Amino acid sequence: MIGISGGRIEVKAPRIPRPFPAIVYATTVRPFVFYEPQVWDDECVQRHERYHWIDQIRWLVVPWLIIYLILSIKYGGGRSHPFEKPAYEIQDNCDETSSKPALNG
Ligand SMILES: [Zn+2]
Repeated sequence: MIGISGGRIEVKAPRIPRPFPAIVYATTVRPFVFYEPQVWDDECVQRHERYHWIDQIRWLVVPWLIIYLILSIKYGGGRSHPFEKPAYEIQDNCDETSSKPALNG
């Protein structure tokens, strides 16, 4: 399934491919935002990905990806990654208003 929202081409993908780790359920690589089916309708994961979207406008997508991957070597792809911390803060604030567990983007 594909949707277009605010210039984003949102794609429902069965799996987020490498180099993203298996724990990642959604990812943004402008102009695409990929979601696995279990987070397709997750408002908080969408907010998380929107943070990356804005970050990639600021950095331009290729430098963003290069720096992201370099920092992943040291920090991994999870919550301690400097590009992920603010995105998870947004997602966690969103999740506090709902009862479901936070998934990784
Ligand atoms: Zn993320």
